[in-house]
Amino acid sequence: MHSDEFKKYAHQLVEWMGDYLANIESFPVKSQVRPGEITAQLPVSPPEKGEAFDQIFGDFEKIIIPGVTHWQHPSFFAYFPANSSPVSVLAEMLTATIGVQAMIWQTSPAATELEERVMKWLADMLGLPAPFTGVIQDTASTATLCSLLTARERYSKYEVNKGGLSGQAKFTCYCSREAHSSVDKAVRIAGIGHENLKKIAVDPNFAMVPEELERVIREDISRKRLPLWVAATIGTTGCTAVDPLEAIAALCRKYGLWLHVDGALGGTALILPEMRWMSKGIGGADSFVFNPHKWMFTNFDCSAYFVKDPGALIQTFEILPEYLKTKEGDRVNNYRDWGIPLGRRFRALKLWFVIRHYGVDGLREKIRGHIRLAGELAERIKATGDFELLAPVPLNTVCFRFRPDGTSDPDRLNALNSELLEKLNGSGKLYLTHTKLNGRFTLRLVVGQTQVEERHVSAAWQRIQDTARMMPLAEAF
Ligand code: PLP
Repeated sequence: MHSDEFKKYAHQLVEWMGDYLANIESFPVKSQVRPGEITAQLPVSPPEKGEAFDQIFGDFEKIIIPGVTHWQHPSFFAYFPANSSPVSVLAEMLTATIGVQAMIWQTSPAATELEERVMKWLADMLGLPAPFTGVIQDTASTATLCSLLTARERYSKYEVNKGGLSGQAKFTCYCSREAHSSVDKAVRIAGIGHENLKKIAVDPNFAMVPEELERVIREDISRKRLPLWVAATIGTTGCTAVDPLEAIAALCRKYGLWLHVDGALGGTALILPEMRWMSKGIGGADSFVFNPHKWMFTNFDCSAYFVKDPGALIQTFEILPEYLKTKEGDRVNNYRDWGIPLGRRFRALKLWFVIRHYGVDGLREKIRGHIRLAGELAERIKATGDFELLAPVPLNTVCFRFRPDGTSDPDRLNALNSELLEKLNGSGKLYLTHTKLNGRFTLRLVVGQTQVEERHVSAAWQRIQDTARMMPLAEAF
C-alpha cells in the first residue's frame, strides 16, 4: 500500500472510528449472533491474490461487526470494564504505526525510558510506598505468574530454574475462595500443583479470613510442606471484596511467605485518597498488579506490575544470548528479562497519553463517579421489596438478585435469576453477567465505562425491574 493510499484509508477509518464511538448506543450491547454464524461467512481458504482494501473493510462491517460485543457501550455492565478512551486509541494508532519491539533499551530507548517514567507516575498516583518498581505486562494473569515464579526461585535459591522441581520441598500457595482463576492457572503453570493451592475461607463480606490463613499455613508446616506464596485480592472478580492486607502481610512476614496483591480491577481506585484503606499494609507485599486496561481508560492490553525486588524478578527470567548483548549492558534497563515474552509492545505510550489527557484529577473524577453510581444503585435496590443486595459495594460492582414475594426455594430463585439474565441480555439494551455467591445465582452490574452516565444506570435498573416483574413466575422453573 502506497503512502497516499495509506493516508486515504487511514482517514476513512478514523471517520468510521469517530462515528462508531459517537453512535455506539445504536448497537446491541451483547452480540446477538448464534455460534457458527460468523464462521459460516468466512472463506475456508485464504485468498491466493491480494484483495482491495475497500472489499476487506466492507467485510469487516458486514461480517465482523455483527459478531462484536460492544465493550465500550455505556450500557456494558458485564464482567469488568475494559474501558478505552479516544486518546488511548490515538496513541495505539501511533504504537501500531511505529511498530517497535520494546524488548531492550537499544531497540527503542524512548519505549524503555517512557515506561520507567510512567510506572513511577503510576506508583505515585496510587500512593504505593517507595521501594516498588514497576514494569508493564500484557495481563494480570501474566504478572501473577511472574510473581509466583519469582517467589519459587527466590525461595529455592534459583535451584528450580537450574534442576527442575524434583527433589524440592513441596511448596504450598494460598488465596481466598473468591480469588481469580488466574491464581489457579499460575499455580499449575509454575509446577506447584493445583492440590497445593489452598483456598482460604472468607468472611460475610467475602474477604479472606486471616485467622483461617494462619491455621492452614500452620497445618501445612506440620505436614512438612513449604508455605511459599499468598495471593491477596483488592477487588475480587465476583463481588469486589477486599482482602485485609495488613493482617495478611503480618502473617507473610511471620512465616516467611511472598505476598502478591492482585488489584486487577480495584487497584485503579487507589488513585482516590479516600480508597487507600484498601491498600493499608501493601508495604508488606512483595508484588502488586493492577490493570489500567480494566478501569483506567487505557485500551487492552496494559497491566502495571510492581515489585519490591526487581533483582529477583530479573534473576528469575534472565537469559542473555549473544544476539541480545549490547554495549550499554546493565547501564540501562532491558525489560526483556522482567517477564515472560521477549518481544514487548510499546504500551507505555498509551498510558502516557491517557494520564496527560485526563490529568490525575480528571481520572479521579471519573473513578469517583463510577463508585458513586454503583453506590446509588445499591441504595435503590435496598429500597425495593423484591430485589436484594447479595454483597457489600465497596467499589463499582453491584451484586443482587430478584427475590419476589413468596419465593424462598434456593433452586427456584437461581433458575429465576438465570432466566432474568438471559432475557435482559437478549434485549441488546444492556449486558450483565453473573456469579455465584454462597451458592446463590447473583446478577452483577459493573459501572466502569468511559461514557457511562447516571441515565444509563437508571435505564438499566428500570429495565431490570420491569423485565423481572413481568416474568411468569410459575413457568420460570
Ligand atoms: N484478577 C482479577 C481480580 C480479575 O478480576 C481479573 C479479570 O477479570 C484478572 C485477575 C485477570 O486479568 P487479565 O485478563 O489481565 O489477566
